[in-house]
Amino acid sequence: MGYNPGMRILMPPLMLVLFVSPMIVALAGARVLGMDHVTIQRGGQPLDLTGKIVTEALDGGVLLKDREGVLWAIPAEQIQQRSEDDKPFTPMSRAELSARLIEQLPGFRMHSTANYLFVYNTTPAYAQWCGALYERLYRAFRNYWQRRGFALREPDTPLVVLVFDSRESFTAYARSELGDAAGNIDGYYSLQTNRVAMLDLTGSRSRPGEFARATSVSQINRLLARPGAEWMVATIIHEATHQLAFNCGFHQRLADVPLWVSEGLAIYFETPDLESTRGWRNIGGVHTLRLEHFQRYRKRRSPDSLQTLITDDDRFRHPDTANDAYAEAWALTYFVIRRYAKQYHEYLQVMADKPPLIYDSPDERLEEFQRIFGDDLQAFDAEFLDYMDTVR
Ligand SMILES: [Zn+2]
Repeated sequence: MGYNPGMRILMPPLMLVLFVSPMIVALAGARVLGMDHVTIQRGGQPLDLTGKIVTEALDGGVLLKDREGVLWAIPAEQIQQRSEDDKPFTPMSRAELSARLIEQLPGFRMHSTANYLFVYNTTPAYAQWCGALYERLYRAFRNYWQRRGFALREPDTPLVVLVFDSRESFTAYARSELGDAAGNIDGYYSLQTNRVAMLDLTGSRSRPGEFARATSVSQINRLLARPGAEWMVATIIHEATHQLAFNCGFHQRLADVPLWVSEGLAIYFETPDLESTRGWRNIGGVHTLRLEHFQRYRKRRSPDSLQTLITDDDRFRHPDTANDAYAEAWALTYFVIRRYAKQYHEYLQVMADKPPLIYDSPDERLEEFQRIFGDDLQAFDAEFLDYMDTVR
C-alpha cells in the first residue's frame, strides 16, 4: 500500500477568484473593534454573516471571519449590505458552537473533550478513541513548543473535528470543498472552515475487507497498531497538526507561508504513538518512510532543489513532484531543528506574523530564508545533504 502524503490543506477556490488580480492585492487595514455584518446572496437567498472583517481588498471585497471561525471570501459584487456595530467580536462559546454544528449536521452526535468538539456519525468508541489521541497530540504539541520558548495562543473556540462512518457520508460533506478528490482522500484540514474532516479508519466500508468495525477503544488501538495501518493514523495526526499550527499562532489562515514550513511541521509530528497514554515520545523521531523517499530522491535531485522547495509551492501540488517535495520538506525541517534551531524559531516567528492574502514573490521568499539561515545557499545545501547522510 502506498504512502499518500496528501495535499490536504485546503484553500477555498473563491480566494483565487477574489484576490488573484494584482489590481486588488493591496489591502486596506482591518478595523479592530466592533462586529461586522455583511449580507450576501447565496443560492438566490440573502445570507446574513456576522463576524470580523480580517482584511479588505481595495475593490471592496472582504475576508470575514464569522463567530464560528469560518472564513468567508466575499467579492465586492456579492455584498448587498454592510454595517458595523460597537459590540466587541466574541467567538462562539462551546455551547453555541455545539448547537450550531448539530444543526448543520443533522443525525450526527457530539463528543466533547477539553479542547475539541468531535461531531460524528460513526461509533461512540471511535469518537472517544479520536478524542484521546487528539488531546494527547494537543498537549504534546504545546509542550514541545513551549519548552522551546514559543508563546503560543489558545484557540479561539474548541477545535472542530468531523468523523464520518463511510466514504459516502464523507464525500457528501467534502465534495463542496474537495470536488472529485473527496473519493481518494481519508481526511483533510480546511483553511476555510478551520475543521478537520475524516473517515473512520476502522470503517469496513471505507476499506472493504480490511477492518471490521471496532466497538471498543482497546480494539481500535489493536486494529490501528497493525502493520500497514500506521500511515492511516499518520494522516489524521498530520491534519490535526495543521489545525493546531493554524490555531495556536504558528501561521495565520490564508497567509503565504511556504508549504515546506507548514508541511514540514505537520510531518515532523505525524508519526503516531499509539502505545503511550502519557505523551508523544516520537516527536522528532526519524520518519522512516520520508527518509527512505528522500534518499531515493537524492539520486535525481537537481542542484536548485533547495531553492525551489523554498520558492515554488507547486512542487507540493503537482502529483509528479509532491512525494519528493514532502520528503524534502520533512528532511529540511529535521535538519534545521537539529542544526539551526535558533534560526528556525526566528523564521517560524516571521511566518507567524504574515497576514492573510499577501503573497511574496519567489525572490522575497528566498531573501527571507537567506537573511535568517545565511546568504550562501549552496554551502547550506551541502551541509544539509551531508547531515542527512548521517541520519538512519
Ligand atoms: Zn499537510
